[in-house]
Amino acid sequence: MHLVNVLAGRNFREGSGGPFAAAVFDLESGELVSAGVNLVLSSQLSSMHAEVVALSLAQTRLASWDLSTRPHQLVVNWRPCAMCYGASIWSGVRDLVIAGAGAVVEQITGFNEGPMREDWREQAEARGMSVTEGIGYDDAIAVFQDYADSGAEVYNPRRG
Ligand SMILES: [Zn+2]
Repeated sequence: MHLVNVLAGRNFREGSGGPFAAAVFDLESGELVSAGVNLVLSSQLSSMHAEVVALSLAQTRLASWDLSTRPHQLVVNWRPCAMCYGASIWSGVRDLVIAGAGAVVEQITGFNEGPMREDWREQAEARGMSVTEGIGYDDAIAVFQDYADSGAEVYNPRRG
C-alpha cells in the first residue's frame, strides 16, 4: 500500500489524473505484477481509472483476461468506484485491499464514486473476492488532502 499511496500523490502532481493508484500482486510469489495510476486527464478517457489501468496491464502482461488462474491481489488507495468495482470482479482477482471506504474521499476531493451498493463487500465476497480495509489509511487521507489543497482539477462530468 505504501507504493500505491506514493504513486497516487505523485500522479496528481504530474498532472496525469486524480490522486488514485492501484497495483496487482501475485499472492503466491508476492511479486508486483503491475501498477496503474489514474490517467483520465492525460488520456482524455473517462474510464482510465487506476484500477482499470492496473488490471489491464496485469492481464496484458500475463496474456490472460482471467487473473483467477493464480491468486492475485488488487491494492487500491480507496474503495473502487462503481465502474472499478465491476472491473475488479470481472478481472478474477481474489483479494482486494483498500486504504478506506466511504464518503470521506468524496468530501475531501469532490470526486463522485458513483452508485455503489450498500452490500458491495458481501457481493464481492460472494463472488470469491475477499476485501481488506484500513491498510495505509492515514497516508491515503494525507494524499487526498494534499490534492484538495492543491486546487487541482476535479473532472466529474456534469459538474456546475
Ligand atoms: Zn474507478
